[in-house]
Amino acid sequence: MEMNSANVEAVVKQVLESMLDKNIPSPSAPAASQAIPKTAHVAMLTSLEHYDVKEFPIPEVGDGDILVKVEGCGICGTDAHEFKKDPFGLIPVALGHEGTGEIVKMGKNVKMDSAGKPLKVGDKVVTCMIFKDDPDIEMFDLNKKNVGGADVYGLLPDDDIHLNGWFSDYILIREGSSVFNVSDLDLDSRILIEPCAVLVHAVERAKTTGILRFNSRVVVQGCGPIGLICIAVLRTMGIENIVAVDGNQQRLDFAKRMGADKSVNFMEYKGIEALSAAVKDAFGGHLADFAFQCTGAPAAHSNIYKFIRNGGGLCELGFFINGGDATINPHFDLCSKEINLVGSWVYTLRDYATTFDFLKRAQAIGLPMKDLITHRFPLEEINEAHRTNLAQKGLKIAIVNK
Ligand SMILES: [Zn+2]
Repeated sequence: MEMNSANVEAVVKQVLESMLDKNIPSPSAPAASQAIPKTAHVAMLTSLEHYDVKEFPIPEVGDGDILVKVEGCGICGTDAHEFKKDPFGLIPVALGHEGTGEIVKMGKNVKMDSAGKPLKVGDKVVTCMIFKDDPDIEMFDLNKKNVGGADVYGLLPDDDIHLNGWFSDYILIREGSSVFNVSDLDLDSRILIEPCAVLVHAVERAKTTGILRFNSRVVVQGCGPIGLICIAVLRTMGIENIVAVDGNQQRLDFAKRMGADKSVNFMEYKGIEALSAAVKDAFGGHLADFAFQCTGAPAAHSNIYKFIRNGGGLCELGFFINGGDATINPHFDLCSKEINLVGSWVYTLRDYATTFDFLKRAQAIGLPMKDLITHRFPLEEINEAHRTNLAQKGLKIAIVNK
């Protein structure tokens, strides 16, 4: 057939019509969106220390919603508390807030993530807080408001959608949630975003004292995931004079791999005098300029002042939940030493976005971030995963979907 201009027009019209016809899938539609199952599997904490993996229908995806196929989710200390005691009174609840996955479907109104990056099906995402009607929570509003008062997926009361937590194979991100396109990070890094944001925030809080500098001597007390990530964040800032303090030699060895210059095992010292002398020794005869307190033990808070020089600073971030009262001597510990004390809890949205860059930097300078994830369990073994976490057998325990 000879193509005259009228023919060309007709063909073009036909092609355009077929593209606009909603019944015919466009050739560019990703395969993933066609493979969405009818039901999702959600691990619900249905009683203390017990999850049931339940099956729920995958709901309609509204114009502002995003359906995500979950790839993995870390187990947080908060999950451990919920598992053991349900302090928030949420049972039955779909837990898991350190999750990440791939967009498989999204509403027509969804165009960009919370940082202004375009979003499309196939992108890898994480969520942060869910906006309510709180004008104080804004994207680049550093230190003004942390997410402490906001809702997050994985800590929501159950509703008739049920796909509210990341310990699942699908989660429905609803309109008004903060969501970030993190397709340029690998799965392990994405699983670590949430805990890392806690440390990016803590270090931002610490910087407000004006004491953290290139050659500052810094003590990090507590070498669980939080303390270890603290060391990593400090290293990406060029701080190298770090002494790690813990009672577990394995964790102290990891702290050194993460970039601590020296370590002090408190089990080897009797009494706070001997311990603070050991910290001083580790700094070549100096007390610390700054200290990060990363344990939830009241005695650790009481002790840490003794490691800090006059005019030095302290960031307390270990008490994520109420761990009881700690005793200090206001005269010796605070006043006469003129200590600059900041507290830190969770993070702001801006810290969350900064964390993506931190993770790339940490990788670039060769920090062993991925080794923080010591155990990976499939969703069906979530009870076992939590028991492993409670037994403190590893560092970060993650649920990773097949
Ligand atoms: Zn967490």
